Amino acid sequence: MSTIAAPSQALTASNRATSNTPPRLQDFDVIGDDAALVEALQTFGAGARVDECRVLGRALGSADGLEAGFAANEHPPVHRPYDRSGVRADEITFDPAWHRHMRLAVQAGVGGAVWADPDASAQVVRAAKFIGVAQVEAGSTCPLAMTYACVPALRLTRGVAERWEPLVTSGVYDTRALPATDPDKRGALIGMALTEKQGGSDVRTNTTVAEPTADDGWWRVTGEKWFVSAVHSDAMFVLAQTPEGVSCLLVPRRRDDGSDNGWTIDRLKDKLGNRSNPTAEVRFDGSLAQLVGEPGRGVRTIMAMIGGTRQDCVLGSTAVMRTGTIEAIHWASHRLAFGRQLADQPAMTAVLADLALESEAATWSALRLARATQDAADGDPQAIAFRRIAGPVLKFWVCKRAPLHSAEALECQGGYGYVEESRLPRTYREAPLMSIWEGSGNVQALDVLRAMQREPECVDAFLAELDAGAGASRRLDAAIAQLRDVIGAGTVDEARARELTVRMARCLQGSLLVRYAPAVVADAYCAARLEDGGGTLGCLPPGIDAEAIVARHRVAA
Ligand SMILES: Cc1cc2nc3c(=O)[nH]c(=O)nc-3n(C[C@H](O)[C@H](O)[C@H](O)COP(=O)(O)OP(=O)(O)OC[C@H]3O[C@@H](n4cnc5c(N)ncnc54)[C@H](O)[C@@H]3O)c2cc1C
Repeated sequence: MSTIAAPSQALTASNRATSNTPPRLQDFDVIGDDAALVEALQTFGAGARVDECRVLGRALGSADGLEAGFAANEHPPVHRPYDRSGVRADEITFDPAWHRHMRLAVQAGVGGAVWADPDASAQVVRAAKFIGVAQVEAGSTCPLAMTYACVPALRLTRGVAERWEPLVTSGVYDTRALPATDPDKRGALIGMALTEKQGGSDVRTNTTVAEPTADDGWWRVTGEKWFVSAVHSDAMFVLAQTPEGVSCLLVPRRRDDGSDNGWTIDRLKDKLGNRSNPTAEVRFDGSLAQLVGEPGRGVRTIMAMIGGTRQDCVLGSTAVMRTGTIEAIHWASHRLAFGRQLADQPAMTAVLADLALESEAATWSALRLARATQDAADGDPQAIAFRRIAGPVLKFWVCKRAPLHSAEALECQGGYGYVEESRLPRTYREAPLMSIWEGSGNVQALDVLRAMQREPECVDAFLAELDAGAGASRRLDAAIAQLRDVIGAGTVDEARARELTVRMARCLQGSLLVRYAPAVVADAYCAARLEDGGGTLGCLPPGIDAEAIVARHRVAA
């Protein structure tokens, strides 16, 4: 029998000693430590509410707050089709961390409560909070976004709004499967079930049908839906065929008597990204529903909601980039290679600065969009026109940048960035989703063309926004002039829709940064992004103060 010698004291000690391992980035203020986000809050009218955002930011960035993001994904929701007696139940159970995180976000106003907030900066505040919440756990942002965005659609039909709006905007996280009419029900989550197997972008191909019942105002919905996220929600918007064409309906999970509403979950999907949010395949079998908007105008009706969820894709992608930026800078600021701190080595400093630049551009864009949402909701026609086109422009661009950014940020952490103990594998897997759902890249670029052709006032509003930054940078002025030439040349071919959208996005980000960001950031953006070939992450042109940009984005935790 062989024996294993006990290790010597010295060997044990040296094996256990670790050096050059950066501490975990935690116990920081996810919102308040983000200089660009705080400045954007102040610039877009929410300066008086920065302290309120900081309270949430500290809770999110605490060790417990960050741990909730890990736990909700390490212990994903479970679908229980039947109860113990064999009765169909379709119950979804979650890790307690999911509920903790969701409750924090809903109570902070990241769901639908913003629509009951009379403050003139409410949408801007909510956007900053959403960016904070998304940095900790991305899956939760899906129900939060849908519950937020559904309110303008609910309001299209009085009976529907009366039933649901008080619950959606209450700021109470209440997951009990009770009907909306139950006096005990204090809050609700709302989702959407649009996509079917045969088509997600082209929802006109939906085969789900809705038939009116004898009860005035109620319909029966029957059909299969292929992607239904936050499937535990209290109600779902669906698109279904009616004699008038595709119509929009709201299907509650429970009927008014508390019974099941013919809503069966076939299975949960095994996704690339977050594990925390249950995305399911669902069948509706004669489910009772209320019509929303006019019959046959379902696509138009649901667009009242999709403007909001698209905005939240921009916010979510901004969060991906902020997480990558601060994690990369933190790691490189505590890690030595070849005897020197990584963050101080020029090739790494340039990469970190470029990540920060992209993240900062996204942050200003995201909050500008939220400001437009606020002003549009208040009836400002210029804001309505600007938001109509800036929405798809930024949804395309910011969401396209996030996966590239995430991969580069992860690489800054070397091998550690590739393992699940780092936060970055989760952001890396999540990043592509924002570009797919709520209209994929091509769909957004084609929507930009559609807005230009059908609503020319959008182009005027967009160019007016760009011109507000004119004269500050010769590169920006040249880029705007080129964009005007492209637009002025007439109808843009579909094959060039992306190219046009990218030009518009870069000009918008440049214009925002020259007006609002520190000169070191604005100059770097214009030099790095507005000339041909700009955009490969980590390849900053000469003459940029990379150290200053990195210092602005370093979190002292
Ligand atoms: C994790 C996850 C969660 C989701 N949750 C929900 C949900 O809760 N509710 C819901 O309803 N849906 C949900 N979806 C579905 C999502 O909205 C769709 O996947 C998306 O809209 C694309 O539809 P599709 O998958 O059918 O792809 P398709 O429509 O087949 O599109 C495939 C590709 O073709 C491109 N394309 C489409 N039309 C054109 C065109 N005219 N010209 C050029 N290119 C074009 C698209 O940009 C895309 O890249 C979810 C998807 C994912 C991945």
